[in-house]
Amino acid sequence: MEIASVIVDVPTKQTDRAFDYLIPEQWRGTIQPGMRVIVPFGPRHIQGFVVELKAESDVNKLREIIEPMDLKPVLNNELLNLGDWLTENTLCFKIFAFQVMLPAALKAKYEKKVRLANRGAVMELPSKLQAYFVNDGELDWEEALQMGIGPLLQREAANGHLEVVYVVKERVRKKHRKFVRPIVTKQELEEAIQKIPAKAEKQRQVLNYFLQHEDEVELKTLIAELKTSGSTIKALAEKHLLAEFDKEVYRDPFENRTFERTKPLPLTDSQQKAIAPILHSIELDQHEVFLLYGVTGSGKTEIYLQSIQEVIEKGQEAIVLVPEIALTPQMVHRFKGRFGDLVAVLHSGLSAGEKYDEWRKIQRKEVKVVVGARSAIFAPFENIGIIIIDEEHETSYKQEEMPRYHARDVAIERAKTYNCPVLLGSATPSLESFARAQKKVYQLLSLPSRMNNQELPAVEIVDMREELREGNRSMFSRKLFELLQDRLEKKQQSVLFLNKRGHSSFVMCRDCGYVVNCPNCDISLTYHRVKEQMKCHYCGYESYVPKNCPECTSEYIRYFGTGTQKVEEELGKILPEARVIRMDVDTTGRKGAHERLLTDFKDGKADILLGTQMIAKGLDFPNITLVGVLSADTMLHLPDFRASEKTFQLLTQVSGRAGRHQLPGEVVIQTYTPEHYSIELAGRQDYDLFYQREMLIRKQHHYPPFFYLALITVSHENLINVVSATEKMVNYVRTQVSNKAVVLGPAASSIPRINNRYRYQCLIKYKREPNLIKALKTILDQYQKDAKSGLQVSIDVNPVILM
Ligand code: ADP
Ligand code: ZN
Ligand code: ZN
Repeated sequence: MEIASVIVDVPTKQTDRAFDYLIPEQWRGTIQPGMRVIVPFGPRHIQGFVVELKAESDVNKLREIIEPMDLKPVLNNELLNLGDWLTENTLCFKIFAFQVMLPAALKAKYEKKVRLANRGAVMELPSKLQAYFVNDGELDWEEALQMGIGPLLQREAANGHLEVVYVVKERVRKKHRKFVRPIVTKQELEEAIQKIPAKAEKQRQVLNYFLQHEDEVELKTLIAELKTSGSTIKALAEKHLLAEFDKEVYRDPFENRTFERTKPLPLTDSQQKAIAPILHSIELDQHEVFLLYGVTGSGKTEIYLQSIQEVIEKGQEAIVLVPEIALTPQMVHRFKGRFGDLVAVLHSGLSAGEKYDEWRKIQRKEVKVVVGARSAIFAPFENIGIIIIDEEHETSYKQEEMPRYHARDVAIERAKTYNCPVLLGSATPSLESFARAQKKVYQLLSLPSRMNNQELPAVEIVDMREELREGNRSMFSRKLFELLQDRLEKKQQSVLFLNKRGHSSFVMCRDCGYVVNCPNCDISLTYHRVKEQMKCHYCGYESYVPKNCPECTSEYIRYFGTGTQKVEEELGKILPEARVIRMDVDTTGRKGAHERLLTDFKDGKADILLGTQMIAKGLDFPNITLVGVLSADTMLHLPDFRASEKTFQLLTQVSGRAGRHQLPGEVVIQTYTPEHYSIELAGRQDYDLFYQREMLIRKQHHYPPFFYLALITVSHENLINVVSATEKMVNYVRTQVSNKAVVLGPAASSIPRINNRYRYQCLIKYKREPNLIKALKTILDQYQKDAKSGLQVSIDVNPVILM
């Protein structure tokens, strides 16, 4: 096998296929599928993935691979196949499908360098440049630009004297630390101690240490322990008694923490009933998808832990996905506490180097369990025994850029390969998953109540229209204000939650709560300040903002939105003595800030925690007895057919934050639409009824889970071009699908212009359309080939966010 097929790191339509390269003599037999290699491509050197080895190629003159980047494959066969599956199902370039499976540190970075061309000679260059290129010198392009000699270089390159090369650079270095160990026998050590001059007491101490400890020890630790110095150790090394050496160590983000080991708890009857089918499926190597439905605190995590235990005992591995914002130290604690060093953790708070180290622990089979956010689904295990997705309804499991995959789909695909179960857990399952469980595609497992039958907190829904009518124009209802004051006096803690997601704003009547909806789509219209207009982002319907509310004729009809900062200011006015911690994107930007603020709150350094959805999860502190939701409506009226579902999920989750321990909790939900079923039912924590109500609406309007969706988004600098291109696509799709499919558009995207590019979309609702994927591919091919048109087309199959 002397030829390698390589997917190159050039994400374009024309290069989205394997290219053949000759394997140079010295690397035959070592280069394998799944390795990264550096190959020449046009004038450049770029990275690629070997996908296949073969003896022959159709191409006559093959170029040679320059060098391998890996000593062993970074993608195993299963992951290479999964890459094909991703490409097919999410309509992405192959190179993206492979890159997404690797830690960022392994993604290629290129440096542009300038050097003498083959035939070039230093003496032919302008004297100003000569010094840079003597002795095969190279000049970094970025540096050259800063020195202001870019144009000069460009001219010489055009003359053929210089050439530009792209050098692939690895972004990570492995981390090394200095260690020390004795290199003589115990007896020789004792003899050496005798010979040490009296004044060299420090040296004697060190040697004595090694009489008791034969193993290597980290230099830093040794110095600290014996209060000695580096030079003392050096002196002993020079006497050939000790050796200093470098050793690779992992960057361990949890280095300075100890995890108290926990033991499996005896399961309750309902936990036992829920876990039995899971264990059964593990035992028999059967692929099956379970939906574990149980409120927060009902004992789901304990079921995860005990299922994993079974998998480990069987010699297999487990992947656990947790939403990024729920991946708190508390969560990590529970897994490390049970399985210790067998756990790797992958989340975005880690540096690229730390992530790379965790990934290598998985690759080297040093761990059995990985706990991580979305991308951990690609953990390079080779003997997976279970995949668990906690809070399976979370939208963050869908990646919003190429490849646009949903971790749940990838989990099921991998679990099929390994014949193992997938366990989805949630207190508020996505409608899709619950519907599948109802149809017995998934197996439903329920945990009906909280552990120890703790009461769910009392929820009060406050009608903000009523507040306004009675003259309260503040963003705090009288009830919420009163309870906040009460908690301050009792020295208990409160959490205030500002439900703010996306940047969309809607038009609402503050007197009666009326929100202007699209007559065709049953989603709210989005307000556009510039034109003073409202628009539907599904179908394109437009309308002016009414001067008076169509329901109650009030003049207080206007667009709606509040920020956390404003709430903080207001709190400062009405409760000046309260200590407030604000958590939003501004205050948690820096690494570790999120965790630090939470720890401060836990330690009682504040009375009120104020934040956006990022505080909805993982907050489990005994002293929280009040949760206030300032405006339940903001998410309800996002131009998204899932708005009700998301509102219900979020309110249920937030309510679950109060009174999780001894002290009973109270929840206040402020809203302008208390009669809306998703708010009312979240108040009663009644998922089942919510599910029934919402399913009726989904069915009526042809939304998932009754219909699938596909979304084409087109952008261009010129509005006319984008509209006419989208129109052509809409017409083309219509010819390719049956009359059971609904093809909507062209309509402006809900963010209608980004970076001076206009954005339009076509939304397809369908049940079974065997030709659709092919038609969508044709569209992509067409527009990607015609790069000069300047159009950008992206296609999202099963979009989660329609904006
Ligand atoms: P969930 O994941 O559904 O929120 P957890 O598994 O975290 O629920 O359980 C909630 C609490 O009950 C935790 O403090 C957990 O340690 C405890 N718990 C869970 N199962 C048991 C059990 N079988 N016996 C005693 N305590 C349990
Ligand atoms: Zn009104
Ligand atoms: Zn509409």
